[in-house]
Amino acid sequence: MTEQQFSYAAMSIANFLGASVPSETKIYTWFPKVSHIPSEAVGYITQKLTDELERMPANFPKVFLEKFHQWQRDNPQKQAKEREQGCQDCEAGLLWLYRKKNGKIETTVKYCQCYAGFAGHIGRVSLAQAEAAGWISRKWFTFDGGPSALAIELAKKAAAQERQRVPHWQESRQ
Ligand SMILES: [Zn+2]
Repeated sequence: MTEQQFSYAAMSIANFLGASVPSETKIYTWFPKVSHIPSEAVGYITQKLTDELERMPANFPKVFLEKFHQWQRDNPQKQAKEREQGCQDCEAGLLWLYRKKNGKIETTVKYCQCYAGFAGHIGRVSLAQAEAAGWISRKWFTFDGGPSALAIELAKKAAAQERQRVPHWQESRQ
């Protein structure tokens, strides 16, 4: 999984437990202990931890790893490897979502419809279905509704390509 996916998971769990969101420094120091966990296990781990934890543990990577080992036991047929997805909607088969309710930010994670594995109690939806239910994708939007870093990067690339298509005589007239 990527550091961003881990950060989303840690934030979602902290949010759910009513704890303060872990700092970037904490995420940075925690991530090396869990970086080998495949993306496809993250939804399961997040779901389990929000089911079972009462408060945010000081040693968060430890409980995260415990749930990963449980995922491995529950899914012996799965190869623990990153899935390279061609889907634009999700991040490696997962949809990281948020919505605002009564002034509070609610977060969740679901399997994307492109995900071929067993979705279990996490559930599988398309981004369009999630959006119809009021959820916003964190792949494309920040919590304040602005474009995500990825969305900005792609928009810049598209603009650069567009500029290349403008004939030289048009630019020289300006
Ligand atoms: Zn997808």
